[in-house]
Amino acid sequence: MLVKSVFKALDLLQVPRILEFILHLLTRVSRLTADELEAAGLVLGPDAVRYSAVRIAEGRLLRLVFKINGDRAITLFHTINLPAKGHHSRGNLDLVVHEMVHVYQFEKIGSVYIWEALRAQKTGGYRYEGWEGLEEKRRNGQLFSGFNREQQGQIAQDYYDDVLTPDLPADSPQRLAFQPFIDDLRAGVL
Ligand SMILES: [Zn+2]
Repeated sequence: MLVKSVFKALDLLQVPRILEFILHLLTRVSRLTADELEAAGLVLGPDAVRYSAVRIAEGRLLRLVFKINGDRAITLFHTINLPAKGHHSRGNLDLVVHEMVHVYQFEKIGSVYIWEALRAQKTGGYRYEGWEGLEEKRRNGQLFSGFNREQQGQIAQDYYDDVLTPDLPADSPQRLAFQPFIDDLRAGVL
């Protein structure tokens, strides 16, 4: 509760905007490519996020950051920070989808998502027991908002990789298991 209030105050004071401005001076930023926009739109919806405000940051200060953290992508507010090379670099559209969920979380609940995502990394982690797990959880009444902030990103990423990329048929059990949660996501109920 206290944590939420602190982040709320930081948001009201425009701290994310200021930090983002500084970070952009120390990195190399660019807008989303057509492919990235399309991938994010297919999962989250074409108007879900303020995509025009999203920037991908690479290089410069981030080279040091990624050396320290082992190339893990970091999304801060509207900026998706990616290593310039390797598995977590820009060409991996599924990763961009995952990180875009964090941008969406920021738009919907404010910068407290950072706290919640860090807590998720330390506790529940990213796993949700696959599509079978999704099927069972939905049967028990779970909503997308019942997952932690990293599982939410992972579900969107896996939906892109395992359902959309192979274009599974509409009646495949995998697609049916993901669908209600993707519908929640697209409705912005995070
Ligand atoms: Zn994440």
